[in-house]
Amino acid sequence: QGRTHQFKLVLLGESAVGKSSLVMRFVKDHFDEYRESTIGAAFLAQTITLDDDTVVKFEIWDTAGQERYKSLAPMYYRGANCAVVVYDITQASSLDKAKSWVDELQRQAEPDIVIALCGNKTDLESRRVVETDVARAYAEENGLLFMETSAKSASNVTDLFTMIDQQADTT
Ligand code: GDP
Ligand code: MG
Repeated sequence: QGRTHQFKLVLLGESAVGKSSLVMRFVKDHFDEYRESTIGAAFLAQTITLDDDTVVKFEIWDTAGQERYKSLAPMYYRGANCAVVVYDITQASSLDKAKSWVDELQRQAEPDIVIALCGNKTDLESRRVVETDVARAYAEENGLLFMETSAKSASNVTDLFTMIDQQADTT
């Protein structure tokens, strides 16, 4: 009687914002201080069971943020039903980069794609430069889900993926 949801999810965002670390935290509940940067893209899968016994299967494409891999991104976001666009709350330029990914997704990806904006590294609160309210307002204006996370402390990481499941399931 349990239901199953399946999602193809892509992570996008500037290099070093913590995309791979978020996936590692979500899939393996593990964090590396010194993580090798992703080349091209990496595939990981995770299945979670929600409180109501719904089984949610995520197929996750973790892309490289470097400019030289930018032309590969459409291969990963085409056909995706969800995208997580990540920035680092301690790097203002990473939010600009995130906005450009959101623009590209809204123009080129599936029209019904669920996009979440994710401000990562909330454990570095003392170095924060992107205010929560500013990022949330941008997300609301552009029809995006919004969450602030820390891959390091695990704060809100499962919640991010659960939020996406809830939204994508109703669209
Ligand atoms: P990616 O290039 O976006 O995949 O970023 P990585 O996951 O490779 O992370 C880049 C660097 O940021 C690494 O040194 C990580 O250990 C660090 N990092 C990632 N997430 C967090 C976080 O939530 N908090 C802190 N303090 N560091 C993080
Ligand atoms: Mg990476």
